Amino acid sequence: MLLQAPASALRHGEIVAFPTETVYGLGANALIETAVQQIFALKGRPQDNPLIVHLADKEKLDQLVKNIPPEFYRLYEDFCPGPLTFVLEKTDLIPDQVSAGLNTVAVRFPDQKICQLLLRLADVPVVAPSANISGRPSATRASHVLDDFKDRIPFIIDDGATELGVESTVIDLTGSMPRILRPGVITADEIRAVSGIEVLSYKDGLEEGDLKRPASPGLKYRHYAPDARVIQVCSKDGKSLEAAVLSELDQLSDQKAGLFINEKSWDKLRLQTVIAEREIIKYLFAAENPDEAAAHELYAALRALDAAGVDVILAEAIPGAEAYMNRLDKACASENMEKEEVKKILFVCTGNTCRSPMAAALFNSYAEEKQQASKIKWKALSAGLHTMDGLAASQSAVSVLCESGIDISGHSSVQLTEELLAEADIVATMTRSQRDILRGFLPALESKIKTLSEWADERGRESAGDVPDPYAQPEAVYRETRNHLQALIESLWQQINSQPGD
Ligand code: AMP
Ligand code: MG
Repeated sequence: MLLQAPASALRHGEIVAFPTETVYGLGANALIETAVQQIFALKGRPQDNPLIVHLADKEKLDQLVKNIPPEFYRLYEDFCPGPLTFVLEKTDLIPDQVSAGLNTVAVRFPDQKICQLLLRLADVPVVAPSANISGRPSATRASHVLDDFKDRIPFIIDDGATELGVESTVIDLTGSMPRILRPGVITADEIRAVSGIEVLSYKDGLEEGDLKRPASPGLKYRHYAPDARVIQVCSKDGKSLEAAVLSELDQLSDQKAGLFINEKSWDKLRLQTVIAEREIIKYLFAAENPDEAAAHELYAALRALDAAGVDVILAEAIPGAEAYMNRLDKACASENMEKEEVKKILFVCTGNTCRSPMAAALFNSYAEEKQQASKIKWKALSAGLHTMDGLAASQSAVSVLCESGIDISGHSSVQLTEELLAEADIVATMTRSQRDILRGFLPALESKIKTLSEWADERGRESAGDVPDPYAQPEAVYRETRNHLQALIESLWQQINSQPGD
């Protein structure tokens, strides 16, 4: 049996690329830390982007996740095996690296014959991010995997083009309502219709901007991007797709252009003299069922047009094709995303009504003033170690910040969660004891948890001091706290913006 060798290699910690119904995956045994580490290294994947664990079926699922909600079983019944990934609470068996320090893990049951066989033979949970170098278009053919990893991995299993072409839908089942974190072929509407389960769609989830349930960490990164610039074209305001293509081409007269559009539109376009006269590289998809056809071909097209050396790719936008448009938007936005990285600083105090909301507001106000010129943007959030959600900032905190022209009257307290800690790039506590509590709680994140004074200190001295709690003291004490925080934030700004590699 041909799959025996790769299955055994996978089980013992080697890397095996294999097809799924969505895209090709770069697989490793999820329980062997060195194998998981190798996946990050091979892909150049940021460590805070968690991996999806692949299983043949749910038989041994309860070894990996706990507190499985009833919705899971309904969705499993209706959609699995299939392109649906579940975010669930993890057990200690899952290495921290797999979940990037989160207390949740993503699991999926792929619907692809070879993949199912391989998973059954390997008989271990398998992490398998898309088999591409991080940031590049995902691999939907074995040749794409070869292009990115030739001679670097021992096995690539070829089973032709993948059936769907875009990654799975990721659904978070750990909150009060299931929420789609990454759009895929299975939509919120379909889940409602088939399983009768109310789901927050990807779009609604984004609009809600729920602080306590941050979206997928991976979504902030540059993705799916070819080397060429990608521009979306579509018919709008009574103008046809062909007219939109011609007007874009007109503006790009000195560039070698590639086209990714439907066959019917190409049939009309090719008769135009401008097209006949210019060297245009085309990659077409079927005009029938364009949503599926475009999704199926997108990554192959981006890769092929890149290989043909085009400077710019005009790609057809298909409004309403949620998963396809999500990937296309990322392919277009990639340059900006990379340049305008937004980092998060999380200020932590006890109640999230005095010190930490003051610090976050002072930081954001200072950052707004200073960061015009800087490549990295910073955003501050705040949370409390022991608090309740929804408390207002203390009256004196509001008053003394008002004197500095900053309004925190709309503040609403937030209880600290593991997700908030995991999502933050740096965490600044007010006191050393708060710092120690957090470090004790999440030792894996220790290096990014320091007191504000330590972050502000040039030499990062451990003993740099606390910011005392002004709670229930006269307003003058709050004013001192404000001035103390302001001074620390100005020094902190110097430190975080002068790190190597900036
Ligand atoms: P890829 O493996 O490249 O398809 O990426 C996996 C996606 O799943 C990333 O966007 C991750 O952010 C998301 N994901 C994996 N694990 C989790 C998790 N525990 N919570 C939220 N999102 C996750
Ligand atoms: Mg990927």
